[in-house]
Amino acid sequence: MSRFWSPVVQTLTPYIPGEQPQMERLVKLNTNESPYGPSPKALAAINQQTNEDLRLYPDPEGVTLKKAIADLHGLDPKQVFLGNGSDEVLAHVFLGLLKQAKPVQFPDITYSFYPVYCKLFGIDYQTVALGSNFEIQAQDFKTPNGGIIFPNPNAPTGRAIPRSEIEGLLSRNTDSVVVIDEAYVDYGTESCVPLLRGNTCPENLLVVHTLSKSRALAGLRVGFAVGHPSLIEGLERVKNSFNSYPLGKLAQAGAIAAIQDQAHLESTSKKVVQTRERLLAELSALGFDTLPSTANFIFTRHPKHAGVKLYQALRDRGLIVRHFKSPRIEEFLRITIGTDDQTNELIAALKEILAST
Ligand SMILES: *Cc1c(COP(=O)(O)O)cnc(C)c1O
Repeated sequence: MSRFWSPVVQTLTPYIPGEQPQMERLVKLNTNESPYGPSPKALAAINQQTNEDLRLYPDPEGVTLKKAIADLHGLDPKQVFLGNGSDEVLAHVFLGLLKQAKPVQFPDITYSFYPVYCKLFGIDYQTVALGSNFEIQAQDFKTPNGGIIFPNPNAPTGRAIPRSEIEGLLSRNTDSVVVIDEAYVDYGTESCVPLLRGNTCPENLLVVHTLSKSRALAGLRVGFAVGHPSLIEGLERVKNSFNSYPLGKLAQAGAIAAIQDQAHLESTSKKVVQTRERLLAELSALGFDTLPSTANFIFTRHPKHAGVKLYQALRDRGLIVRHFKSPRIEEFLRITIGTDDQTNELIAALKEILAST
């Protein structure tokens, strides 16, 4: 605390990211990174860009990257907005689109960065309770509101809703922006991006993606939003009032190559999904109760063992998972899907813990 902090800084409760411990030999299953490396083509592109040209500023508009994203998704480059990780994209979305006279709505259990942005930007919000089995109920988002945002699949639950329910929501909610955060869409969720193609693109739908999860580039910091060109124009106004060069040359080069390597994305995501299904079955055999997941993590609890105790016992054995001390979910662990070997270690550790307590 310092008396020189501005009034707004005095009131902030910042987001706490999952830890990045520096210890060796840890099984790190706490921040939903990919257990597999990024596309080798992305690494080659970054290496190639590592030269004297780094003295120059990068392309502030990221024209080539926007075109690569637009081509992949069947969109126009004017429908693409880039940011330094999707967290930065989301910050601009909150300030530029969701800061309205009416409160923004999001689920009571969701990505915990959303309320942090609201606090930072002075945005009123309302939470909408998930159903009894932690499912998003689209019909519970009521008008009027200053905007709606949720991840699909939701985090940290991993549960998704079909695209048709989001289309229903859009047809009822025509006076504010609906933002779908598709950070985990590549592990078996229906994307809303196809709704944005052609001249039927809704004026109020924005979809946010990241290269941090399925493209295994969390360390590069690249995210983007796609939507109607008028929404993108609003976001560009915010970005150009904050930082004109959010993406460096290395990030742009790596992201272009990663976006173009769909084969790598598909093969690594498929492995994650297979491991997820195996882990689900093994956990169920151990008596865990796990929510259905279409993400690269699962959300699970054991009826006889407290979440915090399991978290600590795993930690003592060098396995790091995520535990949230929030109402309704404190009995759960969020476990990132790792490699097959990491999954074997996890299951062995859980067997040992359950047998000894
Ligand atoms: C991981 C995650 C992000 C942030 O991703 P970055 O692009 O690394 O900033 C955004 N939304 C959700 C729901 C996430 O889980």
